[in-house]
Amino acid sequence: MARAQAESVRAELCLTGVGVAPGIAIGTVFRIDNPTATTNERALLPEDIRGELDRLHNAIMLAHSEIDQGMRGTEGLPANAAEEINRMLEAHKIMLEGSRLTRGIEVRIKKQLINAEAALHQEVEALSHSFAVMEDTYLAARGADVRAVGALILNFLLQQPYRTLAQAPKDAVIIASELTPNDTAGLNPKRIRGLVTTAGGAEGHTAIMARALGLPAVMSAQQALPLSRDGDVIILDGREGLVILHPTAATLKHYKELRARIEARKQELQKLKTLPSKTKDGTTIKLHANIELPDEVAGALDANAAGIGLMRTEFLFMGRNSLPSAEEQEQAIRKAVKAMNGKPVTIRTLDIGGEKIAPALSRHYAKSPNPALGLRGIRLSLAEPYLLRDQFIAALKASKEGELRIMLPMLTLATEIKQAKELLAATAKELGHKGKLPALGIMIEVPAAALQATQLAKLADFFALGTNDLTQYTLATDRADEKVAALYDPLHPAVLQLIKLTAAAGKKANIPVSVCGEMAGDARRTELLLDLGIRELSMTPSSILTIKQKLRELKLKK
Ligand code: PEP
Ligand code: MG
Repeated sequence: MARAQAESVRAELCLTGVGVAPGIAIGTVFRIDNPTATTNERALLPEDIRGELDRLHNAIMLAHSEIDQGMRGTEGLPANAAEEINRMLEAHKIMLEGSRLTRGIEVRIKKQLINAEAALHQEVEALSHSFAVMEDTYLAARGADVRAVGALILNFLLQQPYRTLAQAPKDAVIIASELTPNDTAGLNPKRIRGLVTTAGGAEGHTAIMARALGLPAVMSAQQALPLSRDGDVIILDGREGLVILHPTAATLKHYKELRARIEARKQELQKLKTLPSKTKDGTTIKLHANIELPDEVAGALDANAAGIGLMRTEFLFMGRNSLPSAEEQEQAIRKAVKAMNGKPVTIRTLDIGGEKIAPALSRHYAKSPNPALGLRGIRLSLAEPYLLRDQFIAALKASKEGELRIMLPMLTLATEIKQAKELLAATAKELGHKGKLPALGIMIEVPAAALQATQLAKLADFFALGTNDLTQYTLATDRADEKVAALYDPLHPAVLQLIKLTAAAGKKANIPVSVCGEMAGDARRTELLLDLGIRELSMTPSSILTIKQKLRELKLKK
């Protein structure tokens, strides 16, 4: 009987989750199932409070140094992954430094007269719950950060040993309930094949990190921990969100072939790197890269991108309580411009507000009844001109390293670009900037801007169509709201008409027009965008060669 049960456990099992990082991984299971710490509540006497607070502060201090160690541990990771993890760890450090979380635990110890473990447990539950119920998927995912920091403190309170990724054997596929940035800091991408978690989603830190490391990953595969054992053979399909435990020989063969085909396709694409980015009938289509972190230029260079068509600067403002100085911004921009070695780099000024969050600026938009229509993008930068001035200082100084262009997000009115132009000229004068000013262009991502493209083309040096927001605002459909996801359609005729109008206005005024929304990196849309008059596309670096392959097969319609 026992034997029959053991046999049945080993039958092939296919679990579904959410695919968050593409690719096929085949390996053996390594489970991280650290027992949840006992958080039994213990009553304190008033005279015990001091000692309990000391225990808590000591655990917090140790958690702090653990994170510092984690940050040092990222040195062996690819630069973009290391930067991504460090950013998350930095945010976790902030949570340990007198945040709502630590204050909440202290208050519970003092007021409820309970031990630190129980106070921590209650505060983490309350805080992560208040995140979890948020409609915004990005914010909802931040509950995982609170739990990760809570688990770290608890670990030091209980002084219990922890299983870590550093102990994983070669070719391991990790299965965990959630992975903290501290866990992933010690991950060796050469030994680990893929990641599965039973919780979390596409915007959680494990997903972001897996994509940065190029590791296939499936989240929310709820049964993966209870149904697996260390050493089980496992297959992950990171695109379809499948986890297959103890596969049959036939399944294994199928996925090995699929993995080989994907690998062969990747190799095939590599051959396109140095071939011209031209349609079959000889029209050049410029392919640029979108990046969020300066280190991502490595991917852009690797794909032989014509330049950086969109460098989002929000990353400098996220996950921290203070504003970055002009010098800090300059260094980040300088790094990207220098690395691109003369190829143009388009810096987009701050686009905080709406779904993009920066704690140091939240007072400006947090109370907005409708943040997507509130003080965001260029509106916030003009309402608080010191923000724009600092970004202009950073950009002007960094422009000495190569070709730099500046782009304004969420532009609705001609006066906005006029004001920005004046401020750029004044800042350049103040700095004693010699030579030409950087080209100043605008995002076309609001229907009003597309409809006024002819007028705006007289003021802007270039246009970049932000089709993500253009779709949202044209169709009055929130881009992050799952309930209306079916209505969010960049192929809606109204959106296409606005793209066409903008391309035509740009052509007439002889200024470049690119598309830098997600559509640009979707090969199914390449032909359509060329038909609409687009000749420049900017996308995530990993899509560039696929799009090049597609456009090299196309002939332009007369
Ligand atoms: C867009 O809106 O299409 C765009 C590229 O900007 P973001 O996605 O950063 O809003
Ligand atoms: Mg946008």
